[in-house]
Amino acid sequence: MSLSYYCPKCDALLNPNVRVVLIARHSEKQGIVLMSSQIGDYQVICDKGFCHDVAKGDTIEFRCPVCHESLTSEAHPNFAELRIVNDDRKGHEPCLLRFSRVSEEHATFLYDGDSVKAFGEEAGVFRREMEIEGDWGW
Ligand SMILES: [Zn+2]
Repeated sequence: MSLSYYCPKCDALLNPNVRVVLIARHSEKQGIVLMSSQIGDYQVICDKGFCHDVAKGDTIEFRCPVCHESLTSEAHPNFAELRIVNDDRKGHEPCLLRFSRVSEEHATFLYDGDSVKAFGEEAGVFRREMEIEGDWGW
């Protein structure tokens, strides 16, 4: 599956290659992180100078590397949001992808029209909260 990730604020393509490029910020530090473009794959490549100070359970702020806007979800502040398009399906409408901002908390939700798909071991914790919301505005 070939997926394109876009900033919800400026529509910049965030995975010009296979990795999704984001700015991560924690306390006073920030660095570039490269996330997998496979949903549910939580391997992250990151600037060691930054990652060294991040512990499991820390909440990270993600920003767009193009417009520098925060990607934190307004509806669910524990999550960051991106737009995602499946390039294998012609005319596929952009979906909303939400992933946990908490380090090593594996919870991702994909909102594709009316359906919600959950990924990651910790997704079950949030499932109810994420499913009761309707009307995504597209
Ligand atoms: Zn942007």
